[in-house]
Amino acid sequence: MTTSAELQARRVAAVPRGVGNVTQIFAKKAKNSELWSEDGKRYIDFGAGIAVVNTGHQHPKLIKAIEEQLKAFSHVCFQVTPYENYVSLAERLNAIAPIAGPAKTMLASTGAEAVENAVKVARAFTGRPGIISFAGGFHGRTLMGMALTGKVVPYKKGYGPFPPDVYNVEFPNVFHGGSTGQSIRSLKSLFKHSVDPSNVAGIIIEPVQGEGGFNIVPREFMVALRELCDEHGILLIADEIQTGFARTGKMFAMEHFGVKADVVTMAKGLAGGMPLSAIVGRADVMDASNPGGLGGTYAGNPVACASAHAVLDVIAEEKLCDRANAIGKTILDRCSALQNNSNLNCIGDVRGLGAMCAVELVKDKSSGEPAPELTAALLKSASERGLILLSCGTYGNVIRFLVPLTASDELVKEGMDIFEAALTDAVAKVA
Ligand code: PMP
Repeated sequence: MTTSAELQARRVAAVPRGVGNVTQIFAKKAKNSELWSEDGKRYIDFGAGIAVVNTGHQHPKLIKAIEEQLKAFSHVCFQVTPYENYVSLAERLNAIAPIAGPAKTMLASTGAEAVENAVKVARAFTGRPGIISFAGGFHGRTLMGMALTGKVVPYKKGYGPFPPDVYNVEFPNVFHGGSTGQSIRSLKSLFKHSVDPSNVAGIIIEPVQGEGGFNIVPREFMVALRELCDEHGILLIADEIQTGFARTGKMFAMEHFGVKADVVTMAKGLAGGMPLSAIVGRADVMDASNPGGLGGTYAGNPVACASAHAVLDVIAEEKLCDRANAIGKTILDRCSALQNNSNLNCIGDVRGLGAMCAVELVKDKSSGEPAPELTAALLKSASERGLILLSCGTYGNVIRFLVPLTASDELVKEGMDIFEAALTDAVAKVA
């Protein structure tokens, strides 16, 4: 039995199956965009811990910052004895967040917690209960996160009842026949049939849906959403948990739309692997809550804050927004060539913003019918060939590329070569 097989047997016995695993590769060490398993096998990591290590695994600057903070103190609780690196991180995030006017930041630990707090501040500020989210959206696994999430299996089934006053409307998913007009109609119909807009505190949207399939919000929809929010005094909440920190070629994806949010949730890439999230919002919105209403024992942990400062430095010093665009172009060019390859009739769509790229796999291009079995076979073949890839999408048929933005051109090419071989292999197996 290999080490991984032994570990897998222990994992099955000790950890519930509800905590799913994409692979059975047990990680032993990782460096930049490579990972080595307990069996000693090398992998190229195109998952980046689900969009977390944008600055690569074990970046020396992050390690140094973390080590220095660890030696000073690792936990005192910001609500008991505050510390400078929380405040200075808030200052830095306030300065760069896609928010109009003065901003304030509170820190938390996970993405779901950021979403929960965004809902809290929106309700406290507006005095209204309603929150609107989108089909195919993903906002976390807490009760409110699940309520907002627009996918039933595996995220919601069996876990209700969910908090009330949450409404889900159509996302303008262009590849699947959606449009800006249809989604606006869906919102207007909601206001007519289900909830008065004066009872809605916020609309939460991912500028590019992550788990839902890397679906990019059409620019005109984001603009229309902003106008609708302004008309009704509703707060626009941008969930940038997966899109943030240079992933899309800009610091935040909202910058692509020329539209500002009222509240932005951040996590994942923020601290490069340390558990940290942020809720950045208009100062007046963020200040609506009374002292003690926001926070948490570990929220804004100082070691995680030190790491986040190093992430922001590395993004600037290594020009990772530019790298995201370059990496994205390489991936999209390769995928477009594969899409046009007449031997492979299975790539229905190639899309991306910066390095947040995806291909949607279909049974054949004319029907556009989703191909989840092909996707699963591709992931398996890729992992056997030494490439960690992730899928996503409402129908489980989208391959998402989440390459660390510090990956070299050679490594991206090597990974894409494996992707191509694995796709060819999967097509032959599934056909
Ligand atoms: N929002 C978005 C857009 C996400 O992608 C995720 C995580 N995939 C979350 C919220 C939840 O974050 P976490 O898993 O850290 O709770």
